[in-house]
Amino acid sequence: MKRSNTPSFITELPLKTTSADEATILIRLDAGRQLYHACLGEALERLALIRQSKEYQKIQKLPKTINGKQNQERTKAFDDLNKKEEFTDYDIQHYATGIRNSWIKKHIHAHIAQKLATRAFKAVQKKAFGKAKNVRFKGKNQMDSLEGKNNETGLIFRDNTLSWSDLEIPCIIDPDNDVITYGLNHRVKYCRIVRRKINCKNRFYLQLINEGTPFQNPKNKIGIEEIGLDVGVGTIAMVADTKATLKQFCGELTSDQKKKRKLQRKLDRSLRATNPDNYNKNGTVKKGKKFKKSNRYKTISKDLAETDRILAAHRKSLHGKDINEIIAMGTRIQTEDVSYKGWQKRYGRSINMRAPSMFMNSLKRKAENAGGYLFEFSTQTTKLSQTCHICEQAIKKPLSKRWHVCCGIRMQRDLYSAFLAKCVDKETSALDFVRAKQLWQGIESILSEAISRAKQTAIGMVCPASFGFTGIQSQSGSLVNPVRIISEAMDAVILPDENHRELIGA
Ligand SMILES: [Zn+2]
Repeated sequence: MKRSNTPSFITELPLKTTSADEATILIRLDAGRQLYHACLGEALERLALIRQSKEYQKIQKLPKTINGKQNQERTKAFDDLNKKEEFTDYDIQHYATGIRNSWIKKHIHAHIAQKLATRAFKAVQKKAFGKAKNVRFKGKNQMDSLEGKNNETGLIFRDNTLSWSDLEIPCIIDPDNDVITYGLNHRVKYCRIVRRKINCKNRFYLQLINEGTPFQNPKNKIGIEEIGLDVGVGTIAMVADTKATLKQFCGELTSDQKKKRKLQRKLDRSLRATNPDNYNKNGTVKKGKKFKKSNRYKTISKDLAETDRILAAHRKSLHGKDINEIIAMGTRIQTEDVSYKGWQKRYGRSINMRAPSMFMNSLKRKAENAGGYLFEFSTQTTKLSQTCHICEQAIKKPLSKRWHVCCGIRMQRDLYSAFLAKCVDKETSALDFVRAKQLWQGIESILSEAISRAKQTAIGMVCPASFGFTGIQSQSGSLVNPVRIISEAMDAVILPDENHRELIGA
């Protein structure tokens, strides 16, 4: 097996850059951008020439398949034509070497130039194969990565330091991180420098392309995909590149919450029974009165404190599970900066019980510890909940509407929001429509899969719960919050199919 064909994984190390280092890296990124552009332009031109040629027209007319198999003759004819017109990876690399022989030489290593050429060629090749409508030229300050070909020259990682021409930049290495340790113990195929713009600041990372398979520890697996996250009132939706999930957010807390509410009411009744003179006729508390507390009250208080403790512990473990699930997909997380206080006014206790702000803080800490980040963009600038990425129009969607329907798209709202969150540009905090359109192609089926999975779990849970609704109601008297919470959450995950609506309403 050729070495380039062996499996590889990425170990990412933050770089401890000085501002002088950063300035140099930025110059090199831009030199890389210009070289990349030159290659893109050249490859596009060569492709155009090929397409205009008579030979191309002739080959085009050959049948694509023969007896259901690819027509080898046609493929070979195209290959020969590409070689003749110098539209190959090799030829564009050769072209890049020529371009590099200029002011660029000082900033871009020969290997890095060759890799940029390959990258440009592959982009144009996608267009040639009809897999992409067009290639994208990168604007100033939009080139975010450069990579070498091996770990011996160009970008070199040794002694926990990146050495890149005259730059020597130490890597930040967490010795307690098993994933990092694992990566450091594997051969480095080549290195890649990555710049990320987070909250208007540049951050630099070194990615080691290691030989082998990634570190596997189901307990604290760390993924490398970019995550869009949407935490709703009763749901949590996460969208990565290869996986998406939609589920109830802290749904399992409902029974703890029910018990807590029951005890709170008991406590209130006990206090009223012991201190009847402290209340007005309409039930409100008189001002400046002292309350006597019965033994029964004290017992209930203890019960309540314990229930509260259990609820908190249960919540912590549920939060932890969800966070681990996210981190396992990736540590670069984007989400809307939601005002949970505003929610509390609107939805009441079901928010308190779930503690979404606590969840976000904890997620942020864990993502950062794992070398990633939680990027919270403003709701004001993006208005994601009202946007369609195809027509780029804002559509008024009432919160009660659980589905995004526009331009031929029909998608569960929370998953759609999470998808859009994934496409928000970190620098501008605005939705990157081009990226959204590109990503949507592959991701739609992944989102649909997430819906069918959510549906299956939800149906499994809703059946017994819906049968149990009346039971809960009669036990705890009037004002049954848990039922409302369950139906809210279920409503959130379930398709508005007639069958399911019947279940919710039962
Ligand atoms: Zn639309």
